Amino acid sequence: MKSKLPHVGTTIFTRMSALAHQHDAINLSQGFPNFPADKKLTALAAQALRDDHNQYAPLGGKFSLRKILSEKVARLYDRNIDPETDITLTAGATQAVFTAVATMVHPGDEVIMFKPAYDCYEPAIDLNRGITRVFQMKPPQYAIDWNAVEDLISEKTKLIVLNSPHNPTGKLLHQADIDALIQLVDKYPQLYILSDEVYEHMTFDERPHLSVLQFPKLAARSMACFSFGKTFHVTGWKLGYIIAPEALMNEFRKVHQYNVFCVNHPFQVALAEYLKDADNYLNLPAFYQKKRDHFLSITSRSRLKMLPSEGSYFQLADYSEISNEKDDAFTLRLIREKGLALIPVSGFNQNAEQHHNVRICFAKTDETLEAAAEIINRL
Ligand code: PMP
Ligand code: GLN
Repeated sequence: MKSKLPHVGTTIFTRMSALAHQHDAINLSQGFPNFPADKKLTALAAQALRDDHNQYAPLGGKFSLRKILSEKVARLYDRNIDPETDITLTAGATQAVFTAVATMVHPGDEVIMFKPAYDCYEPAIDLNRGITRVFQMKPPQYAIDWNAVEDLISEKTKLIVLNSPHNPTGKLLHQADIDALIQLVDKYPQLYILSDEVYEHMTFDERPHLSVLQFPKLAARSMACFSFGKTFHVTGWKLGYIIAPEALMNEFRKVHQYNVFCVNHPFQVALAEYLKDADNYLNLPAFYQKKRDHFLSITSRSRLKMLPSEGSYFQLADYSEISNEKDDAFTLRLIREKGLALIPVSGFNQNAEQHHNVRICFAKTDETLEAAAEIINRL
């Protein structure tokens, strides 16, 4: 059979975690926490199973969960969304992204994205026969030149894919980026936005997460997606949600109902209850900043030079003082010879551009971070 994705292999995250396992290496590669989820949340999930919330959920998701999420959005982003029409629960942000792209992108439509980029956007665009136009961000700042972005826009441009806090760079969109984006949306009425905000609760040094939902002109043209897996240390639950204005959401649900129809019911019941305590998410920036700062302090004398992380649970590091190998060779050698798994970043760049940096996930226990630091400090 002819492949629809001839250039795609197994994701780097899966490959690196498998190699880490094989070589018994410390795994700071794939982005998942190695500490347990909150016992209160898992107890609520167990209770929901025992209470027999075990049949299909409504297509849009359990209403009590949509309702409390709409209250969270009002509180954090000052936007009133209608829980009936403007939000849909999804099987993680991955399915939200895929279904959103399938909803919005027609064959020949152009989609602008920023690289390095998380790996699930481009295959979704390809499978829907969209055409990707790339703005390649450069280290160490990974800034976006919005004039260059405007040069990528044609009458065929339909969508811009945003991701802030950003995987893998740890950068945030700042107010100047938002202002530039508003100008573009004003100038090009055919443009929509898919905003991946799965790390919304991981921002550091008092920097706010700027959501497209906060800005009326952006919110009117955006689908914004979120992930409970990332927020509540339960990546294996594969639950997330997407928010969009009613007309867009109607189209999304047409696709969603044949893509998955509805998603895991008992865990939605548990999350609706758990979200009643806003501290469960309001405490997250401090929790992750402590991890980032601890990791930075115990690796400060390393020749692996850490690039500033403003958000997400990732940290980029420049290894050019240690080696001039390509990043995939360097990371393979690290796993095999030093027992440490990190992610090479070139695969997320346009034409696998080499920046001689690697991605580190610091969503790990202090013991794991300290054991990793011992290796890093000897490199
Ligand atoms: N977007 C980004 C930027 C991610 O890092 C991830 C990985 N979790 C996802 C989307 C997918 O999220 P989920 O696990 O909820 O599908
Ligand atoms: N989002 C996670 C990361 O960036 C991995 C998810 C996956 O393995 N597909 O590492």
